[in-house]
Amino acid sequence: MAGVQAFVGLGANLGDPRRQVLQALQSLDRLPNTRLVARSSLYRTAPVDATGPDYVNAVAALETALPPLALLRALQAIEQLHGRERSTANAPRTLDLDLLLYGGRRIDEPELRVPHPRLHQRAFVLRPLLELAPDLEAPGLGPIVNWLDKTKHQVVQIIDDRGGLP
Ligand code: ADP
Ligand code: MG
Repeated sequence: MAGVQAFVGLGANLGDPRRQVLQALQSLDRLPNTRLVARSSLYRTAPVDATGPDYVNAVAALETALPPLALLRALQAIEQLHGRERSTANAPRTLDLDLLLYGGRRIDEPELRVPHPRLHQRAFVLRPLLELAPDLEAPGLGPIVNWLDKTKHQVVQIIDDRGGLP
């Protein structure tokens, strides 16, 4: 597969969050023309700008031949499959999948912004991302590691240190 390296952020805080995230990782690996290359450890995070139970978060590294919008739609389909129900913005949800990075591409469409606009503000994204790719750079952001310091007040805890292989 002549694919692009894409990173997907996973988060869940309803139902059985750990199970939701692990099942979503399997679903990512089953997407057409897509391979799950690696996954981070699972992290436990207090909600940012939201209420409700703690989140379980992780990041997946994909190799994919799907174009960016097709990949986004596929992520949304997986969210639906896992019974996502939402009332308001930032409301608790069973599963949230965000397209963080798509190769070195910059995309600015109403439906899809890449790099994900809040990637660099969230420790629960930065920490697992850096676990998979310590030297990662993102368009407009530079080396990802440089943003970690600004988020150090956010409490993020590894709950399942089995990162690396999917
Ligand atoms: P959150 O910002 O908390 O993840 P949502 O998942 O509800 O909020 O946001 C979904 C909306 O964001 C969708 O309408 C989708 O089109 C849009 N969107 C824009 N850029 C992205 C991206 N990089 N990844 C996922 N959704 C995105
Ligand atoms: Mg989202």
